[in-house]
Amino acid sequence: MLDNGGMSAPADAARAPTVGFVSLGCPKALTDSELILTRLSAEGYRTAKSFAGADLVIVNTCGFIDDAVKESLDTIGEALTENGRVIVTGCLGAKAGEGGGNLVRQVHPKVLAVTGPHATQEVMQAVYEHLPKPHDPFVDLVPKVGIKLTPKHYAYLKISEGCNHRCTFCIIPSMRGGLVSRPVGDVLAEARALFESGVRELLVVSQDTSAYGVDVRYRTGFFDGRPVRTRMFELCEQLARLAEPSGAWVRLHYVYPYPHVDELLPLMSCGAVLPYLDVPFQHSHPDVLRRMRRPASGERNLERIQAWRRACPQLVLRSTFIAGFPGETDEEFEHLLQFLREAEIDRAGCFAYSPVAGAAANDLPGALPVEVREQRRARVMAVAEELATRRLARRVGATMQVLVDRSSALGRKGASGRSYADAPEIDGTVRLLPPAKASTQIRVGEFVRARIVAAQGHDLIAQPV
Ligand code: SF4
Repeated sequence: MLDNGGMSAPADAARAPTVGFVSLGCPKALTDSELILTRLSAEGYRTAKSFAGADLVIVNTCGFIDDAVKESLDTIGEALTENGRVIVTGCLGAKAGEGGGNLVRQVHPKVLAVTGPHATQEVMQAVYEHLPKPHDPFVDLVPKVGIKLTPKHYAYLKISEGCNHRCTFCIIPSMRGGLVSRPVGDVLAEARALFESGVRELLVVSQDTSAYGVDVRYRTGFFDGRPVRTRMFELCEQLARLAEPSGAWVRLHYVYPYPHVDELLPLMSCGAVLPYLDVPFQHSHPDVLRRMRRPASGERNLERIQAWRRACPQLVLRSTFIAGFPGETDEEFEHLLQFLREAEIDRAGCFAYSPVAGAAANDLPGALPVEVREQRRARVMAVAEELATRRLARRVGATMQVLVDRSSALGRKGASGRSYADAPEIDGTVRLLPPAKASTQIRVGEFVRARIVAAQGHDLIAQPV
């Protein structure tokens, strides 16, 4: 349940309608929530701390895997019980139930409205209908920087919606539609506003960041009166330029190993963009990748990674994998383990394959027993742990820049943050020991330099210098 302290109260707060908001799912869903909350705030609505205390509740759902579907349906049920007036948005809202009807409406027929993902306008229409907009010309101003659900010092920047791929295990394109790249000028204007508002780390997200601009044929847009192509490299170059005055970080997520990604390595070696790539490989064996219908499945991923590492030795690679995909042979699975070791993936996550309702992979032959899928997942994770531990241990003795996420008594009782090698929420942390000098203060959202003194699990321990 979100209570957004940043939402400005309208002139007559006592009469302002209140909206409860729950945001579930991935960073892309989070940016949808931020857009809706920004509109609500700009139009004079306030957020409520509880379902019961709201005039209406909006639930932004996730529909990717079965657990997420259950969590979303349960949350809607809770909101209906405690409040009764519920609008549903997000991926689950676009999902069909039995017989082709809308799944959310089938399970919860009392919801007021249901929309799919990235549907701010439709959500606002439903809000106007069920909780009319307050009339106050002074609050009808859209804030320069939207509502952020992340801490003030980092923010997700969504550069596109939807996806043109058709991976056989995924139903996102059927929920979010084909790729629609945001105009490059809008993306850069948002980035600049975020940096100006104190953001020190910008996390670029989309379904396929490397495909940015494909849908508009890399059309040339404008920013600050200058032409900029709608293309990943040019976007990163401009983001780096905007981040430079404050020394902020630019981190890329969901990049596929296409040849044009090689162009980014010089930007990473010189630190303009963080030398960190989140590449969801999902598998290594060409036949499995073909059955998965993965983007860039024909690429020589291992050779590409090795070339990236030669060009930028400090590069950190994060990835996710699926073990036990239908038809995965012992040999294909061993190929995956070998790939992990040879590619030296710094941070790997692995799911045991689980069928998602509506996904094409459900019809593939050779489904593996659940126990085999789980065993394989455990084996991947064991290799991943071993690699992560080994690669982290190499950092002991180095001095790294750390972005502070939490600080206790201005750092006197220690603090915690992340280095360039750690994305928020998904990677490890750097635990900062109290500074040697009592006069040194460590504040959230600041960069500090620290000497790594030990590695512990997925985290590092460091002494500020
Ligand atoms: S790239 Fe594949 S897994 Fe990712 S959103 Fe597109 S279809 Fe789904």
